[in-house]
Amino acid sequence: MTTVIVGTGIAGLVCALAHPRPEDVLVLTKAEPTASNTFAAQGGIAAVTDPAGDSIAAHVADTLTAGAGLCDAAAVRALCADGPDRIADLIAAGVPFDRSPAGGLARGLEAAHSVARILHAGGDATGAGIAEALLRAVTGRGIEVRPHTLVTALITDGGRVRGVRTLTSGGAGEDITADAVVLATGGAGQLYPYTSNPEVATADGVALAARAGAVLADLEFYQFHPTTLALPGNFLISEAVRGEGAVLRDHTGERFMLAVHPDAELAPRDVVARGVADRMRETGAPVFLDATAFGDRLATRFPSIDAAVRAAGLDWAHEPVPITPAAHYWMGGVATDLAGRTSLPGLYAVGEVARTGVHGANRLASNSLLEGAVFGHRAALALSDGPFEHAGKPVEDQNDRTVRATSARCTRDELQQAVWEGVGLGRDDAGLAATEARLAGWSGEPAPATVAEHETANLLLAARLMARAARARTRSAGAHFRTDDARVLETAS
Ligand SMILES: Cc1cc2nc3c(=O)[nH]c(=O)nc-3n(C[C@H](O)[C@H](O)[C@H](O)COP(=O)(O)OP(=O)(O)OC[C@H]3O[C@@H](n4cnc5c(N)ncnc54)[C@H](O)[C@@H]3O)c2cc1C
Repeated sequence: MTTVIVGTGIAGLVCALAHPRPEDVLVLTKAEPTASNTFAAQGGIAAVTDPAGDSIAAHVADTLTAGAGLCDAAAVRALCADGPDRIADLIAAGVPFDRSPAGGLARGLEAAHSVARILHAGGDATGAGIAEALLRAVTGRGIEVRPHTLVTALITDGGRVRGVRTLTSGGAGEDITADAVVLATGGAGQLYPYTSNPEVATADGVALAARAGAVLADLEFYQFHPTTLALPGNFLISEAVRGEGAVLRDHTGERFMLAVHPDAELAPRDVVARGVADRMRETGAPVFLDATAFGDRLATRFPSIDAAVRAAGLDWAHEPVPITPAAHYWMGGVATDLAGRTSLPGLYAVGEVARTGVHGANRLASNSLLEGAVFGHRAALALSDGPFEHAGKPVEDQNDRTVRATSARCTRDELQQAVWEGVGLGRDDAGLAATEARLAGWSGEPAPATVAEHETANLLLAARLMARAARARTRSAGAHFRTDDARVLETAS
C-alpha cells in the first residue's frame, strides 16, 4: 500500500508525519525540500490557543466573514476545531513558536481576525521554523524525501490514479506505482509577473489533476497581497506589520485607506490590495508602507523582514517604503472533501493546491498554514481507511478536458503579463474574452521535455482554466472583482 506524497510544504510533511504506515510513504519534491511557499511564510499560523480570550466559534466567524459568504461551513468548522490539536502536533514535532515573557505562546493580531491568535516563530520566520522542524521529524521517522524529482503526470487506469510519472533535474524519468497519490504541490504565484511566491509555485498540482480528469473548483478566486516591496522579487511585508500598527500612505502622505474601509489598513486583503492599486492608478505615483512609528523595534519584532528591507537599501525604521500588491494565494484548486479525497479514486489533494472550501472567495490571513496542517493530517487518517469516492458537497467542475500536456508556444514572461492584465486584481468580460483567446492561441506544441517546459505548460493550462472560471462568474465576490459588475459600476458613479 504505497503512498506517494508530492510536495514538502506543511501539507505534504504533516501528511507524511501522520501517515499510519511510514514504511509505505515516499515523498517527492521538485527542488530542494525547503523550496516552498511554506518556507517563505512569515506572519504566522492562526488557531485558538487561548480558550479564555478566544473561541472556535470566533475563529469560524472571522473565517466565514473573510470568505465573502462562499466558504463551505463544514470545512471551516473542521479547520478551526482541529486547529488547537494540530498546533500541539507542530510543537511536538519541534516547531519553535515564539513565547511571551511569561512563557506562554506569543499571539499576534492580523487583518480581519477579531482576536490576537496568530502564532509565530523566529519573529517573522514562521514558515522556515515549521518547514525545518517538520522535515527533521519526517526524515527522523525513516520516510524517504526525494528531492529534484518533478511529477509530470498522474498515471491512471480505469479512472483510478495508480501512480506518478517523474522527471529528475538530471533528465531521467521513472514511473512510480502507488495505491494513493497525495498532491501537496502548493500554489501558482508564477502565473503572475508580480508575486510573493517562490519559483516552484507553478500550478503543477492543478494541471496534473485537470489532465487526469479530477474536479476543480473556485479557480477564479486568487488573492493578491497588498504589501510587497515595489522592487524586483516583490519581497512580502507581512500583514503582521500592519497588525501591529504600520499604516499605508500615498505620495502626499495621506492615509487613504481610512476613506476606503472602516478597518482601514486592517480591512480584508482584497479590499486593501484594491485600495492600494486604485490609489496607484489614480495618482500615477507609488504607495508607501509607513512603519516608522516602530523605529528600531522593527529589527527585533520582524528580524527577517527588517534584514530583507535593509538589504534592498531601504531604511524603513525612518522612512516609508514603496509597496505594491502582488499575487499571493490561490483559494481555488482541486476539489476535495473534508479528508482530502478528490473526485478520482486514489488521488488526494491537501494544502494550497486543494479547494476544501475553507477560504471561500477570500482567505483569512494565516489560515493557509493551518489548512495545510489540518487537512494534511485528515488525509493521512483517511489513507489508513483506503481510497474513497469524493464524499464532499458537490462543486462546479471547472475542468477543461480538452487540454493535454502540450508545451506552451509563449514565453513565461508573455504568459505572466497576459494573466496580470486579463485576470488580475480587476476583471471584465471583454478583457477575459481577449485573454482566453490569447491563451488558447499559445498551446499545441509537442509534449514538454524539460522541467521549465513542463512548468510553463502547467501555468498555461492553469491560466486557461482560471480565465474561463473568472469569465463565468459575472458578479464580484471577495478576491474576484468584476469591474463590469453592475453593482460596482453603480457604486463608482
Ligand atoms: C511570502 C509568503 C508569505 C506567507 N505567509 C503566510 C503566513 O504568514 N501564514 C499563512 O498561513 N500562510 C502564509 N502564506 C501562504 C502559505 O505559506 C502557503 O499557502 C502554504 O505554505 C502552502 O503550503 P503547501 O504545503 O500547500 O505548499 P508549499 O509549501 O508551497 O509546498 C509545495 C511543494 O510542492 C512541491 N512541488 C510543486 N509541484 C511539484 C511537482 N510537480 N513535483 C514535485 N514537487 C512539486 C514544491 O517544490 C514544494 O515542495 C505565505 C506565502 C508566501 C509566499
